[in-house]
Amino acid sequence: MKLKSLIITSALLLAACGYTQAQSTQVIAHRGFWKTDGSAQNSIAALVKADSINCYGSEFDVWLTADNQLVVNHDSTFKGVNMQKSTAQQCTAVILDNGEQLPTLRQYLEKAGQLKTRLILELKSHKTPERETRAVESIVKMVKDMGLENRTEYIAFSRHATKEFIRLTPKGTPVYYLEGDLSPKELKEWGCAGPDYHFSVFKRHPEWIKESHDLGMKVNAWTVNDAKDMKWLIDHGVDFITTNVPVELQEILQ
Ligand code: MG
Repeated sequence: MKLKSLIITSALLLAACGYTQAQSTQVIAHRGFWKTDGSAQNSIAALVKADSINCYGSEFDVWLTADNQLVVNHDSTFKGVNMQKSTAQQCTAVILDNGEQLPTLRQYLEKAGQLKTRLILELKSHKTPERETRAVESIVKMVKDMGLENRTEYIAFSRHATKEFIRLTPKGTPVYYLEGDLSPKELKEWGCAGPDYHFSVFKRHPEWIKESHDLGMKVNAWTVNDAKDMKWLIDHGVDFITTNVPVELQEILQ
């Protein structure tokens, strides 16, 4: 009898652990997993490496070039090339720090198709709302054509781009807003999946985490590289942490 109750207690404990784990904070690699050998920010290698350490998602940045192509890069001007004013050919001639050519979005998504990590696609803020609409239309179409709709989430600082992603993606596609200046209630009214804010915003407004959850939204915080901040966010129940040091975050979560 004693053995039986021990087995039942153990099973319950295991189930409880499983539950806690399922509820726990997920790791998103910021610009991929780039702080490691052979990698570079927003490189295809960084996407592959984020996938190889089982990150929930890998974040990357997208620009629309002067000739209406999509490329993956963070800075508006990188190694002397302005992404919005240059052609795709000029942009992709840039060599990243790991020796890769700056990737097009198509090349990036082609590789993603062989992996399992979720794609956290940030559209950078462009010169005009028209350029952003054009970029969103092209991105949404490409993601659909490549069969990645169910694995892609969208983020933007631009209010216009955020609204366009909500308008043009299938219902239920996660779209998060980055700027940090809208309350959970306002984001809900827009149809956002939730706030994806700099962690300092949540330190000023810790109540926004619970408010978001109460409204059925998720909470992401960026870019969190310090263990103390990670622990604070985990304790406050954020759903996702975007970090440059995904392995360190995974260790804290274990
Ligand atoms: Mg980004």
